[in-house]
Amino acid sequence: MKYLPIFFSIAAIFIFNHCSAQTQEKQPIQIKLYAIDCGRIDVSNFAGFSDTADYDNKTVQLADPCFLIVHPKGILLWDTGLPDSLIKKPETVGGIYHLTKSISLQDSLKKIGLTPNDIKYVSVSHSHFDHMSGLDQFPNSTWILQKVELNYAKTHPNPFVIDASQLKSYKTAHIVIINGDYDVFGDGTVQILSTPGHTPGHQSLEIKLSQAGVIILSGDEFHQRSSFEPLRVPVFNTSRAETMASADRLKTLIKNTNARLIVQHDEHDFEGLPKFPNYLD
Ligand SMILES: [Zn+2]
Repeated sequence: MKYLPIFFSIAAIFIFNHCSAQTQEKQPIQIKLYAIDCGRIDVSNFAGFSDTADYDNKTVQLADPCFLIVHPKGILLWDTGLPDSLIKKPETVGGIYHLTKSISLQDSLKKIGLTPNDIKYVSVSHSHFDHMSGLDQFPNSTWILQKVELNYAKTHPNPFVIDASQLKSYKTAHIVIINGDYDVFGDGTVQILSTPGHTPGHQSLEIKLSQAGVIILSGDEFHQRSSFEPLRVPVFNTSRAETMASADRLKTLIKNTNARLIVQHDEHDFEGLPKFPNYLD
């Protein structure tokens, strides 16, 4: 009988630990998603964004956001937007793209007390200049790059709308080269999804938020809500077949996970997100 109190003490500890482990298991991982204004593109002729003549003689305004994903294991920056030089000097490119920017990414980061050194990982949906300008402002971050996209961006002469000078730090930055999907923090909450077609290594991002649910940032797989269903394929995509397969993948994933799609260039999708420095969680 003298062992009875010890038995109950051990049992109590076991039950307490078991319950607390169960409680810990149930705790969702707290992630914040910030959408940051990284410029704007006014397109006076949108025809090239559909190879089936859907956008002939149409004009459109495109948002150009960057996204911060704040995870307990570090911060991921997704896309680095248009060049800061546009803040002082807006530009018209190719006669149809009017590019503007009102605030630098670094000034936006300052609003929530961050500097580039606080950004653990940087990845871009693809290497077009409206998604990758400013990448070299993060030389101390780990760059997560698709192998095929890096090889594509480095080809000479530079492919369509790629400014490879933004990659000049890649040889000295810490780099993770990936081939396909990639689980950024190793817990399934933030996953890079291979969605080639717009460019050979184009990728999208899936984020599982505890309150807001699953969010898909689709890069340039779609340029507007109207190019999601039915799918409109830009004439300058590197592969129509890959674009269609990637769209099919995202549409099925969105349906099966009840995800919220953010078409990054769609200004209504961008404006529908909490205004920075507010966030989704
Ligand atoms: Zn774009």
